[in-house]
Amino acid sequence: MKSEQERTAHSRFVQALQHEHLTCPKPGCGGPMDVTDHTLHNARIKTYEAQCQRCHMTEKITGKEQATPPWDVASITMMAEVHLLHDQPTCPIDDTPITFTSLPNPRRKARYRLSCYYCGRHTEMNWPPPEAKR
Ligand SMILES: [Zn+2]
Ligand SMILES: [Zn+2]
Repeated sequence: MKSEQERTAHSRFVQALQHEHLTCPKPGCGGPMDVTDHTLHNARIKTYEAQCQRCHMTEKITGKEQATPPWDVASITMMAEVHLLHDQPTCPIDDTPITFTSLPNPRRKARYRLSCYYCGRHTEMNWPPPEAKR
């Protein structure tokens, strides 16, 4: 998150991720946009295409894959704790809301995948995390 342009691109990405309404960025238009998810199967970052209903301009909205440095244990624990409090955890690197996906559990243990669809960082953990059992 450095330049103004990057900040804008990131906030539009978060809006698309959370299915919020996007408005056309073209000066003087501001029309509502239809957002389509073009993410490839198993892709680590999400790709959306938005099209303005008014002027039909299209905009590609995509994450910026960056895997290093990976999340450290402290940030993973922090995200799990926020999720336990029924709050929305965000990626500590880029502040994007994290997606929790429950995974098939062969040994009846809940397992979750935590993914940031902006930077592509992800991890898996048993649930509830051992740190949370107090
Ligand atoms: Zn427009
Ligand atoms: Zn991230």
